[in-house]
Amino acid sequence: MSYFNREIETMPLEKLRALQEERLKKLVQKVYQKIPHYKQAFDELGLRPEDIRSIEDLHKIPFTYKVALRENYPFGLFAVPREEAVRLHCSSGTTGKPILVGYTQNDINLFAEVVARSLYAAGCRPGMLMQNAYGYGLFTGGLGLHYGAEKLGMTVLPISGGGTEKQIMLMQDFKSDAICCTPSYALTLAEHMKQKGMAPEEIPFKYAVLGAEPWTESVRAAVESGLGVKASNIYGLSEIIGPGVSQEDVDEKGTGSYIWEDHFFPEIVDKDTGAPLPYGKEGVLVFTTLTKEASPVLRYWTNDITSIYYDRSAKRSHIKMGPIIGRADDMLIIRGVNLFHTQVEAALDGLGLLSNNYQLVVSRSGSMDEVAVNVELDQDVFDILIQTTEDVLQHDSVLNAQKQLQHKIKSEIGLSMKVCIKIPQTIDRSEGGKLNRILDLRK
Ligand code: ADP
Repeated sequence: MSYFNREIETMPLEKLRALQEERLKKLVQKVYQKIPHYKQAFDELGLRPEDIRSIEDLHKIPFTYKVALRENYPFGLFAVPREEAVRLHCSSGTTGKPILVGYTQNDINLFAEVVARSLYAAGCRPGMLMQNAYGYGLFTGGLGLHYGAEKLGMTVLPISGGGTEKQIMLMQDFKSDAICCTPSYALTLAEHMKQKGMAPEEIPFKYAVLGAEPWTESVRAAVESGLGVKASNIYGLSEIIGPGVSQEDVDEKGTGSYIWEDHFFPEIVDKDTGAPLPYGKEGVLVFTTLTKEASPVLRYWTNDITSIYYDRSAKRSHIKMGPIIGRADDMLIIRGVNLFHTQVEAALDGLGLLSNNYQLVVSRSGSMDEVAVNVELDQDVFDILIQTTEDVLQHDSVLNAQKQLQHKIKSEIGLSMKVCIKIPQTIDRSEGGKLNRILDLRK
């Protein structure tokens, strides 16, 4: 069975809008009646569910922020009795109470459907073997990809994240066709395989479906060449459903990821004022879940920064989003300049001597904030230099690479940063999950 749902995925825009509007109106009625938080928010503004007649009226509805999920923890934002939820998931938030979301059986089916759609767009096909290296458990990644891959008709290996040696052994024994994991863990795997002397051609993976953290084209290039795969982006968040909210088509790489907008209606708004922004402008991504039953949200403020736009030359009619530049709350403001770590990652692209293993160290000297970039030398370069050079890090070519990166950062980002080149294997790697690229010594 093919999982390309032509009727939905290539639906003409007017038809798609009509479907979204019909779903939106029902949703608004439902959340107003079932969820006290929304009733109160509407009543305070004198807004009635009947006032939302079309997508154009959406902006009248106030945003739902993460704090509302915390304040109504655990079941206060459920639109169904807890007993009707067949599954609960939590976001991987590191501080305080987690964010809890519930799924009815229909929600689980929807989750599997959008992930199956996503995997198909990523190049996966029924019968292929998916090595699912997303974490299983409360995190939506593991089970989300699992059910979606099964729905597509793949054979799923539920190996979860980490255990790199075992990942490599089973991948060889079972000839896994595809892997899904975080991009940083894909880099870890590629590195381990190289250390074991495996050439990319010997690695059976054909596709890598990567998400859960921001990544750039330089990481794509390293994963594709290191694992011999076609790598595509999968995006999502627990509050909306989990991974599978959006997905890049493997043949349309670099042009953005389709948002499955028959279920998740996106908006981009100004991060300071909340005003809606036109297509193509960068701002905060906001979602309304059009069909979810247990934990629906209206205008959920994801905090993720990107842009959305229609791509008329694409295979599907659904709107696309660009790569996530970062989360608004992870944005550093250094001497008045906004900085996301992905900007430094992008600057690393094309600097041959350096690897993609980097970390930003933020510190304060007097009243000035400073950022240092620690980045490892490429392993092959190191191996060659060490044969003839006593202090590799003082070699002319290394000092040159350091200067080049410093210049590139200054001209592309507008900030002066100290660049420290490190020998390989000295900077933290992903051991299976999301990798923190920032060490903030000011905290
Ligand atoms: P947490 O907020 O605790 O990390 P989730 O595990 O639900 O919760 O992760 C969702 C977040 O992960 C998104 O809001 C986004 O910041 C990030 N994310 C997920 N997929 C991607 C992706 N493909 N690119 C960039 N960031 C992503």
